[in-house]
Amino acid sequence: MTALADKIRRTIRLTGPITIAEYMATALSDPEHGYYASPRRRAPMGADGDFVTAPEISQMFGELIGLWCADRWQALGAPNPVRIVELGPGRGTLMSDALRAMHAVPGLTEAIDLHLVETGRGLRDVQGVVLGDADPHWHDDLTSVPDGPILLIANEFFDALPIHQYVGTRDGWRERLIGTKSNGDFVFCNSSGRTRASAFIDMLGAPGMPGDIAEISPASISLAGLISARAVAAPCAALIIDYGRCGMLGDSLKGIVDHHEGSILDRPGDVDLSAHVDFAALARAATEAGASVFGPTPQGAFLRSLGIEMRADILRRGATPTQVGSIDTALHRLTDVGQMGELFKAIAIVSPNQTPPPGFSQ
Ligand code: SAH
Repeated sequence: MTALADKIRRTIRLTGPITIAEYMATALSDPEHGYYASPRRRAPMGADGDFVTAPEISQMFGELIGLWCADRWQALGAPNPVRIVELGPGRGTLMSDALRAMHAVPGLTEAIDLHLVETGRGLRDVQGVVLGDADPHWHDDLTSVPDGPILLIANEFFDALPIHQYVGTRDGWRERLIGTKSNGDFVFCNSSGRTRASAFIDMLGAPGMPGDIAEISPASISLAGLISARAVAAPCAALIIDYGRCGMLGDSLKGIVDHHEGSILDRPGDVDLSAHVDFAALARAATEAGASVFGPTPQGAFLRSLGIEMRADILRRGATPTQVGSIDTALHRLTDVGQMGELFKAIAIVSPNQTPPPGFSQ
């Protein structure tokens, strides 16, 4: 059991079973022991960490996103300054590759004002080493990023935001909670009646059938609304890439440790927790706020349309046979339907009346 498990157990003793959203928020973001937020945490993403993200697979990913930003900068009228904002920059790999690609566009590098939204103090140190030359400003959340024109990137950020889960019973939806057994181990249980978060599931408008599980992430929906409000107030283009679906049905909450599925309940703070993003919910929040939405588009189609195959061809020139093998493997992992090509999706939230961004054929 971890120090964080003791802390959560004390809360449950005082307040009764907690929601999955509360458990996720503590397990990932507790300032002392949270999986991401702990000052001791370095970089869980990468071959020697717990999971591998797209920018850690190949430089092509970040470079193409940099070109996407450059295109949108021009579409926004080449504002100077333009705030480049990344939510959850991890090791800083994506942004470092993206900034390199953006250097090729005259005037853009001089206009960039870089803002990183990252709660983890240990991860901020890692990002500072990789991105220090670009003089980044760090924020705990988007609200403190100054107003004005923004290009925002979020890769594998929304899947770490807390979700509520609901279970269909003969009496309708009940919220899935986490309590403790007599020996102190954590255990899933159902609420006996309505909870404060029951209002969210009422929005589904359908009763839960026994066996159904539904998930809603109010944190993700409100963040999509916040991004969209900024897009309505000032020129903005936001690119969100994550794994997920359109809809809220199904149990997608997972613990991930050492590249494998791990227990959600056993070692909070030592295990990554992640759930599918509901792209339909994000799109709805953005549209309701008055922003324009493009996608979701599967990652494979998105990257191909941005020219990943051409970029791979260029990298293959002059590469050793081993390097060519790595480029081919990376291309396959990022774009194939059975790999990250279909489950991962891209969605753009942009200011009204913008031309369709690259990668979205709409
Ligand atoms: N985008 C990176 C890292 C993805 S992992 C990549 O593609 O490799 C998720 C990132 O989001 C980490 O940097 C983590 O510390 C950060 N993060 C997770 N939850 C957060 C929250 N609630 N607020 C701010 N940052 C958070």
